[in-house]
Amino acid sequence: MRNPAAGLGFLRDYNEGLVVAIARDSVPFDRASVAAATGLTPQAVSKVLARLIKQGLIAPSGLRRQGAGKPTTLYELVPTSRFAVGVHVARRTLRTVLTDLRGDVVTSAVTPLPPDFTPQDLLRAMADGVVHLTRDRPDTSGRITGVGIGMVGPLDHALGIVRDAHRLRHWHDVPLRERAEEVLGLPVHLDKDVTAGVTAEAWRRGPAFDDAALIMVESGVGAGLWLDGRAHRGAHTNAGEFGHTVLQLDGPRCACGRHGCLEVLHDRAVADGDIPRAARILAAGVVNLIQTIDIGHVVLAGADLLRHHRSYRAAVADAIEAEVPRADWLTVEVTLSSLGADIIAAGAAMQILDASYGVPSPASVGPAIPMQIEQQAR
Ligand SMILES: [Zn+2]
Repeated sequence: MRNPAAGLGFLRDYNEGLVVAIARDSVPFDRASVAAATGLTPQAVSKVLARLIKQGLIAPSGLRRQGAGKPTTLYELVPTSRFAVGVHVARRTLRTVLTDLRGDVVTSAVTPLPPDFTPQDLLRAMADGVVHLTRDRPDTSGRITGVGIGMVGPLDHALGIVRDAHRLRHWHDVPLRERAEEVLGLPVHLDKDVTAGVTAEAWRRGPAFDDAALIMVESGVGAGLWLDGRAHRGAHTNAGEFGHTVLQLDGPRCACGRHGCLEVLHDRAVADGDIPRAARILAAGVVNLIQTIDIGHVVLAGADLLRHHRSYRAAVADAIEAEVPRADWLTVEVTLSSLGADIIAAGAAMQILDASYGVPSPASVGPAIPMQIEQQAR
């Protein structure tokens, strides 16, 4: 964990976020292990634990006896104390998942979206999706933290506005976060699909996953970046338009207006049935990315990629080996996404959990809503 003792303005929530993060990763735990991991005094840990127990997020789970001394109280996260809904908006489908506080996917569903769907179509489908996920789960009543949306870009994560999503005609400067909050009656977090996806991977992989890219191929090509232990969104929160980097100056015109973008070259190879070539094109882009930002992990994701995962994984690994100078030193791990098709929706749910129960960071944007669930739970 990075910088656990930073003197932020909201220290109380910061410490609670730290303890929830520890509880999420280790069951059961005791007061001393939290003190050791955070640098807090045992008394401060007790106060934080008392607050989290009162909120139902943490519960005592038993006693550990060692020798003749006083037994140690053990604690654990209560995963079902809170839930989150994650939504993955792709160009053809809407995938929804329900996760618990640990981020584990409890249930998931996928429905088709109408061709060239409108904001109204999407809002209706999301509302139906939330009802469908929670209908047979009375334990989720009053415990839904919010809804995370991972969507194709370009979009403005900070303002919650979808900006001219590629190949979707009805999506010009749509304030999706605000409109979804009105329709769903829950806090909403909007992010690019790939950033949600790389967040999910980071939750599952832990601190060793500090400089990474999630490469996604699913009706388009994008890259979610996780740099220095956190999601990297860039100056306009629109980082990740990896598919619209040019590989061939005089190449075919792309949906974005440029010529010879990775995405248009890749998609043409796929349309020709030439998956090995499509994979080599993607791999060339991955090597460019490695050369630019020096990442240690490449995670391959997206339905269109996972259908041919052997070809893509081999092409990326071969290109790194052959084209990255000193690949013996600049080692890069290449893996497939650990959550399969659910990864974007699950990551979006984890982002809304982070916004409420994560470790706040000065750079964090989006809803900070720790009290809202308290009001709902009453
Ligand atoms: Zn393009």
